[in-house]
Amino acid sequence: MTERALLWFRRDLRLEDHKALSLATELHSWVAPVFVFDTTILSALQNRQDRRLTFIWDSLQVIQKKLAQQGKHLIVLHGDPRTEIPRIAKELGIHTVFTNEDYEPQAKLRDQKVQASLQELGIQFRSLKDQVIFSGSEVLKSDGTPYQVFTPYSKAWIQHLRPSHLEEKCARLESLAPATDLKHYLAFPDLAALGFQRCSLWLEPGADAGLRRLKQFIPHMSAYAEQRDFPQFELGTSGLSGHLRFGTVSIRQLLRTYRENRSAGARVWLSELIWREFYQMLLDQFPHVETKTFRPEWNSIVWPGTSEHLQAWQNGETGYPIVDAAMRHFNETGWMHNRLRMIVASFLTKDLLIDWRKGEAYFASGLLDFDLAANNGGWQWCASTGCDAQPYFRIFNPTSQSLKFDPQGKWIRAILPELRNLSDKEIHEPWKASVPSYPAPIVDHAQQRPLALALYEKARKHK
Ligand SMILES: Cc1cc2nc3c(=O)[nH]c(=O)nc-3n(C[C@H](O)[C@H](O)[C@H](O)COP(=O)(O)OP(=O)(O)OC[C@H]3O[C@@H](n4cnc5c(N)ncnc54)[C@H](O)[C@@H]3O)c2cc1C
Repeated sequence: MTERALLWFRRDLRLEDHKALSLATELHSWVAPVFVFDTTILSALQNRQDRRLTFIWDSLQVIQKKLAQQGKHLIVLHGDPRTEIPRIAKELGIHTVFTNEDYEPQAKLRDQKVQASLQELGIQFRSLKDQVIFSGSEVLKSDGTPYQVFTPYSKAWIQHLRPSHLEEKCARLESLAPATDLKHYLAFPDLAALGFQRCSLWLEPGADAGLRRLKQFIPHMSAYAEQRDFPQFELGTSGLSGHLRFGTVSIRQLLRTYRENRSAGARVWLSELIWREFYQMLLDQFPHVETKTFRPEWNSIVWPGTSEHLQAWQNGETGYPIVDAAMRHFNETGWMHNRLRMIVASFLTKDLLIDWRKGEAYFASGLLDFDLAANNGGWQWCASTGCDAQPYFRIFNPTSQSLKFDPQGKWIRAILPELRNLSDKEIHEPWKASVPSYPAPIVDHAQQRPLALALYEKARKHK
């Protein structure tokens, strides 16, 4: 086709195995790639040192450099995509705008607006599934209703899987517009122009780094089932969630890698990738979860926790070393291991009796891999308010969790220098050793447990 096309990058910051890019360059011989730093999203970010901005900016630079080597160019804009995409599409005489689907509620509304504006201009809009193997309405029960339990969903997900779902989607980069045709769009706004400062990142950005991380993880995949709960193992889990979030790695690539490594460990890893899609499906099919509990009975809980305790939790000053180490490391890096996310979420809701939404929002503000569906699903699972969640009467004991998943306190010692000299046993209960530079526990777990149970039981009776 000779008509011009536009390829709009969003959560898919790579040139490799990219559905929309592949289709656009197959159907059109002149395709201009564009990314828009969305002013609506950016202005809502409180922290001007948001790590995600650095990750996105650097990942775009990687794309830009690769394209420049081939005489091509990525257009980078700063504005509202609802107006910017139709404007540039009109300016460039575009026939079709291609993009990959984004399932977050705000993104869906944005895309509807963009599509409507393009339609008025006589420009087509094509959005493709790329971020997931199965979108929210593709794996349903035989009666057409959504699954509400993970195990049968997971079985059905595996049954639906065909080799075609994993096919690599290669782009014909020669069909991208030559840089000389885009000379009015050469500016690449730096972070300061966007109103942000550069941050150090624990995870290397860009698609090459995503692939490298996957390759590093492959030899560890078979040990995943045994190691994944222990934060001290550097590659006990893949560390790919940030790359999945920004699409600097393709989910199809991950599935192909799984297929080549079908060990027992790899099968457990696959089930985590399916949890990712389970939560995406829940957000799609039950959009109320964004603000409310999945099950209505838990909406009536009045959480008595205090703002002082919330602050102590956020700062990593609760007096429980595993919680404090996890929170301080998170504040420092934007990363938290899954087991630690579960421990701190349980502590916030069932020890401090604070609304899970406050913890969810705090994670959302700082996680490099923040994903609305996974974060909401994770918090509702831990708070027992979610779909197929941890039963409300299962309450993590932070000290037992610490002893179980960091038995020698190696991980805690690495983060909390003030506890470094305590013995392997004392480090989990520093109040017994009395360390002046470390806070005393802000609550007593043994006293809080019955209060949490009473809170949930009261809500259950009111249903
Ligand atoms: C309270 C809470 C909040 C969370 N918030 C997020 C979030 O904002 N973004 C996010 O990507 N994950 C979130 N998770 C899920 C999980 O903690 C991370 O995906 C995981 O720690 C990422 O590490 P990894 O890439 O090494 O995972 P691996 O263990 O290597 O797993 C591979 C991939 O599977 C997916 N995955 C793994 N576990 C889960 C899970 N429980 N739920 C959904 N997907 C999963 C991730 O995409 C991950 O990269 C949250 C979990 C909890 C308990």
